[in-house]
Amino acid sequence: MFNSDVLDRVAVGVDLANARDRGLLPGTTIDRPSWIFEAHGFLPPARATDWRALTLVAEGVAQLLRLVAAGEHQTAVTRVNQELSARAVTPFVEACDDTWVLHLHAPDVHFADGWATGLAAALAISYSTDDAHRVGCCAAQGCAALFLDRGRNRQRLYCSLLCQNRSKSRGYRHRRSRR
Ligand SMILES: [Zn+2]
Repeated sequence: MFNSDVLDRVAVGVDLANARDRGLLPGTTIDRPSWIFEAHGFLPPARATDWRALTLVAEGVAQLLRLVAAGEHQTAVTRVNQELSARAVTPFVEACDDTWVLHLHAPDVHFADGWATGLAAALAISYSTDDAHRVGCCAAQGCAALFLDRGRNRQRLYCSLLCQNRSKSRGYRHRRSRR
Protein backbone atom coordinates (compact mmCIF):
# COMPACT_ATOMS: atom_id res chain seq x y z
CA MET A 1 0.00 0.00 0.00
CA PHE A 2 1.40 3.37 -1.00
CA ASN A 3 0.66 5.03 2.31
CA SER A 4 2.36 2.38 4.36
CA ASP A 5 5.44 2.76 2.15
CA VAL A 6 5.45 6.50 2.90
CA LEU A 7 4.93 5.90 6.63
CA ASP A 8 7.80 3.38 6.65
CA ARG A 9 10.05 6.18 5.41
CA VAL A 10 8.77 8.63 8.03
CA ALA A 11 9.37 5.89 10.65
CA VAL A 12 13.02 5.72 9.54
CA GLY A 13 13.18 9.51 9.98
CA VAL A 14 11.74 9.23 13.51
CA ASP A 15 14.24 6.51 14.45
CA LEU A 16 17.15 8.46 12.94
CA ALA A 17 16.10 11.56 14.90
CA ASN A 18 15.81 9.59 18.17
CA ALA A 19 19.12 7.83 17.58
CA ARG A 20 20.78 11.17 16.99
CA ASP A 21 19.23 12.66 20.15
CA ARG A 22 20.43 9.66 22.18
CA GLY A 23 23.99 10.16 20.94
CA LEU A 24 24.00 6.93 18.89
CA LEU A 25 25.07 8.72 15.70
CA PRO A 26 27.42 8.58 13.93
CA GLY A 27 28.58 5.69 16.14
CA THR A 28 31.68 3.59 15.76
CA THR A 29 32.12 0.95 13.11
CA ILE A 30 30.59 -1.79 15.25
CA ASP A 31 27.64 0.04 16.79
CA ARG A 32 26.27 2.01 13.87
CA PRO A 33 22.49 1.67 13.95
CA SER A 34 21.94 0.06 10.56
CA TRP A 35 18.91 -1.67 12.09
CA ILE A 36 17.01 1.61 11.71
CA PHE A 37 16.70 0.94 7.98
CA GLU A 38 16.27 -2.82 8.19
CA ALA A 39 13.55 -2.55 10.86
CA HIS A 40 11.34 -0.76 8.34
CA GLY A 41 12.13 -2.97 5.36
CA PHE A 42 14.82 -0.86 3.69
CA LEU A 43 18.33 -1.81 2.69
CA PRO A 44 20.89 -0.71 5.28
CA PRO A 45 23.77 1.52 4.18
CA ALA A 46 26.84 -0.12 2.73
CA ARG A 47 29.76 -0.63 5.10
CA ALA A 48 31.67 2.24 3.56
CA THR A 49 28.82 4.72 3.97
CA ASP A 50 29.81 8.00 5.58
CA TRP A 51 27.80 8.07 8.79
CA ARG A 52 28.70 11.67 9.43
CA ALA A 53 26.61 12.54 6.39
CA LEU A 54 23.77 10.42 7.76
CA THR A 55 24.13 12.19 11.11
CA LEU A 56 23.60 15.53 9.36
CA VAL A 57 20.49 14.13 7.70
CA ALA A 58 19.30 12.95 11.13
CA GLU A 59 19.86 16.42 12.59
CA GLY A 60 17.82 18.03 9.84
CA VAL A 61 15.01 15.52 10.10
CA ALA A 62 14.99 15.78 13.92
CA GLN A 63 14.42 19.54 13.70
CA LEU A 64 11.75 19.07 11.09
CA LEU A 65 9.89 16.30 12.93
CA ARG A 66 9.93 18.31 16.17
CA LEU A 67 8.19 21.14 14.32
CA VAL A 68 5.62 18.65 13.02
CA ALA A 69 5.10 17.12 16.49
CA ALA A 70 4.70 20.58 18.01
CA GLY A 71 2.00 21.44 15.48
CA GLU A 72 4.16 24.11 13.80
CA HIS A 73 2.88 22.94 10.45
CA GLN A 74 3.37 26.10 8.42
CA THR A 75 7.04 26.30 9.38
CA ALA A 76 7.49 22.57 8.82
CA VAL A 77 5.88 22.67 5.38
CA THR A 78 8.00 25.67 4.36
CA ARG A 79 11.10 23.63 5.27
CA VAL A 80 9.84 20.57 3.45
CA ASN A 81 9.27 22.67 0.34
CA GLN A 82 12.77 24.16 0.61
CA GLU A 83 14.21 20.63 0.81
CA LEU A 84 12.15 19.49 -2.15
CA SER A 85 13.40 22.30 -4.37
CA ALA A 86 17.00 22.00 -3.17
CA ARG A 87 17.09 18.26 -3.88
CA ALA A 88 16.28 16.37 -7.02
CA VAL A 89 13.22 14.29 -6.19
CA THR A 90 13.31 11.69 -8.96
CA PRO A 91 10.89 8.84 -8.39
CA PHE A 92 11.72 5.61 -10.15
CA VAL A 93 10.68 2.01 -9.77
CA GLU A 94 13.13 -0.86 -9.60
CA ALA A 95 12.67 -4.61 -9.64
CA CYS A 96 13.94 -6.12 -6.40
CA ASP A 97 13.70 -9.89 -5.95
CA ASP A 98 10.05 -10.67 -6.67
CA THR A 99 8.66 -7.23 -5.95
CA TRP A 100 8.81 -3.62 -7.19
CA VAL A 101 10.46 -0.93 -5.11
CA LEU A 102 9.77 2.79 -5.40
CA HIS A 103 12.73 5.10 -4.93
CA LEU A 104 12.23 8.83 -4.56
CA HIS A 105 15.72 9.87 -5.65
CA ALA A 106 18.01 9.27 -8.59
CA PRO A 107 19.71 5.84 -8.54
CA ASP A 108 23.26 7.17 -8.32
CA VAL A 109 23.07 9.47 -5.28
CA HIS A 110 24.92 8.93 -2.02
CA PHE A 111 22.97 6.92 0.58
CA ALA A 112 22.57 9.91 2.92
CA ASP A 113 21.52 12.27 0.11
CA GLY A 114 19.04 9.70 -1.12
CA TRP A 115 17.48 9.46 2.31
CA ALA A 116 17.38 13.24 2.78
CA THR A 117 15.46 13.45 -0.49
CA GLY A 118 13.24 10.48 0.32
CA LEU A 119 12.39 11.83 3.77
CA ALA A 120 11.44 15.26 2.42
CA ALA A 121 9.23 13.65 -0.23
CA ALA A 122 7.67 11.26 2.32
CA LEU A 123 6.85 14.16 4.65
CA ALA A 124 5.36 16.14 1.78
CA ILE A 125 3.11 13.19 0.92
CA SER A 126 2.28 12.72 4.61
CA TYR A 127 0.97 16.26 4.72
CA SER A 128 -1.15 15.81 1.63
CA THR A 129 -2.61 12.54 2.94
CA ASP A 130 -3.28 13.93 6.43
CA ASP A 131 -0.74 11.56 7.98
CA ALA A 132 1.76 14.14 9.25
CA HIS A 133 -0.27 14.40 12.46
CA ARG A 134 0.86 10.89 13.26
CA VAL A 135 4.26 12.26 14.30
CA GLY A 136 4.28 13.01 18.01
CA CYS A 137 6.54 13.64 20.97
CA CYS A 138 6.41 11.39 24.04
CA ALA A 139 4.24 12.76 26.86
CA ALA A 140 6.17 11.00 29.63
CA GLN A 141 8.02 13.26 32.01
CA GLY A 142 11.72 13.41 31.23
CA CYS A 143 11.34 11.80 27.78
CA ALA A 144 11.41 13.79 24.56
CA ALA A 145 11.51 10.91 22.09
CA LEU A 146 9.59 11.23 18.85
CA PHE A 147 7.17 8.54 17.73
CA LEU A 148 5.03 7.68 14.73
CA ASP A 149 1.47 6.73 15.60
CA ARG A 150 0.39 4.10 13.07
CA GLY A 151 -2.82 3.30 14.94
CA ARG A 152 -6.25 3.81 13.49
CA ASN A 153 -7.41 6.09 16.31
CA ARG A 154 -4.27 8.20 16.46
CA GLN A 155 -4.37 8.50 20.23
CA ARG A 156 -0.84 7.51 21.02
CA LEU A 157 0.84 9.61 23.70
CA TYR A 158 4.02 7.73 24.51
CA CYS A 159 7.11 6.61 22.61
CA SER A 160 7.12 3.17 24.23
CA LEU A 161 5.32 0.83 26.60
CA LEU A 162 8.00 1.61 29.14
CA CYS A 163 7.14 5.34 29.13
CA GLN A 164 3.42 4.56 29.16
CA ASN A 165 3.73 2.30 32.22
CA ARG A 166 6.06 4.73 33.94
CA SER A 167 3.57 7.57 33.48
CA LYS A 168 0.64 5.47 34.62
CA SER A 169 2.27 4.37 37.86
CA ARG A 170 3.49 7.90 38.41
CA GLY A 171 -0.05 9.26 38.02
CA TYR A 172 -1.26 6.58 40.41
CA ARG A 173 1.30 7.50 43.05
CA HIS A 174 0.49 11.16 42.56
CA ARG A 175 -3.24 10.57 43.12
CA ARG A 176 -2.57 8.41 46.17
CA SER A 177 -0.26 10.92 47.77
CA ARG A 178 -2.84 13.65 47.39
CA ARG A 179 -5.39 11.71 49.41
ZN1 LIG B 1 9.07 8.22 26.01
